[in-house]
Amino acid sequence: MNIADSDVVASILQREGYRIARQADEADLILLNTCAIRDNAEQRIHHRLRDLQALRRRRPGLRIGVLGCMAERLQSKLMEDEECVSFVAGPDTYRDLPALLRQGAKFAATDLSDTETYADIEPVRLSSNGITAFVSIMRGCQNYCAYCVVPYTRGRERSRDPETIVDEVARLAQAGYREVTLLGQNVNSYRHGHTTFPTLLERVAQVSPLLRVRLATSHPKDLGDELLHAMAAHPNICKCIHLPVQSGSDRVLKAMNRRYTRDWYMGRIDAIRRILPTCSLTTDVIAGFCGEPEEDHRLTLFLFREVRYAYAYMFKFSMRPGTYAHAHLADDVPDEVKTRRLEEIIALQGEIALHNNQAELGRTHEVLVEGASHRRQDQLFGRTSQNKVVVFDRDTHQPGDYLQVKITGCTAATLLGQAAQEAPIPQQPQTSPQP
Ligand code: SAH
Ligand code: SF4
Repeated sequence: MNIADSDVVASILQREGYRIARQADEADLILLNTCAIRDNAEQRIHHRLRDLQALRRRRPGLRIGVLGCMAERLQSKLMEDEECVSFVAGPDTYRDLPALLRQGAKFAATDLSDTETYADIEPVRLSSNGITAFVSIMRGCQNYCAYCVVPYTRGRERSRDPETIVDEVARLAQAGYREVTLLGQNVNSYRHGHTTFPTLLERVAQVSPLLRVRLATSHPKDLGDELLHAMAAHPNICKCIHLPVQSGSDRVLKAMNRRYTRDWYMGRIDAIRRILPTCSLTTDVIAGFCGEPEEDHRLTLFLFREVRYAYAYMFKFSMRPGTYAHAHLADDVPDEVKTRRLEEIIALQGEIALHNNQAELGRTHEVLVEGASHRRQDQLFGRTSQNKVVVFDRDTHQPGDYLQVKITGCTAATLLGQAAQEAPIPQQPQTSPQP
């Protein structure tokens, strides 16, 4: 999400004549786009700002701005605490940046908006590989999970005009992009007039059969069968769902205000398996939330064994000021217990991922080639529809090619394969079951 936002900021500033500097010590303006979700994300920014302080001393005209959720959360206090910061700008204020920068003084722009979606701003795609792109379709969140700062830092939920989304996707397809990821804190609660998320998704999928479509993130409470049927109907909608569970315990889910139970979540997993048999599943989980007893942690491990995720983002609970948990609950799981629980989840997920990957040996997948492998220049990497990274010999293949790749080896994180001939996108829904 922050990558997409940085691309919007770059676009707004480029229109004003700003240009991207090759490196920090050539820049007149340095912008740090920030996350406030966990304390360690904020600590990294504080460290970076201390490094930049030295650069600022060498270049007195340099302006350093902090954007995003940390700016929104800390507001002008961040400028008091970090001497080198010339301004802070929250996620809904980016249009005002050129005018505010022209004034030259320090500023804290932190108003949140109920309507801003930056719908008309074509992002610059600074770090793009020319093959895959993020397209932001909604902003904000009002689910108020007890642990989470997002509703306070990114404001109320609002959806972007579908016409502007479809137009942006069509331009990307024309420019040779092969994959778009539709982004939002909770994409399945997208609604603009009569357009719901399944309708939008189908419109985007129809832009080009050669353009893959992914989505992130889905909230379990809003994941309906209509969306799953829309995904099944289009071969170019990737068969991968990120469905953050957070905990396997009803008691903890209730304390987190997640608004679903373990049974409801497992019911959604069953629906995915039934309607999208080839679909892979990924998740987010938090270890050591307020009051989490040992047996509830065991329930999370048990759920991981049942679902067998392809991948999980696993976090230690981090108490965030301003949240419901901060005001009403005690951060009472000792840090060493949180760490141990997190390590248990990581170890289990590692075993599951390796086992899942071993089951892929001998199968053939359609892979979209993204670029050179990070380890070896004579190899390329791409992803399956299920979002698995596959590494294979370069031969004459190019980024952007669709290839049939036979899986010949694996680690817990990566599949290794051999590419056959270039393959067209299948025109029929994929229905072969994945054991
Ligand atoms: N909107 C998405 C998640 C956005 S935040 C959703 O609801 O699923 C990404 C992930 O960060 C969350 O899923 C959660 O697992 C984690 N997270 C959020 N706040 C956290 C906190 N205070 N401590 C630890 N992890 C947190
Ligand atoms: Fe945070 Fe919950 Fe909103 Fe996700 S749904 S952004 S976890 S409040």
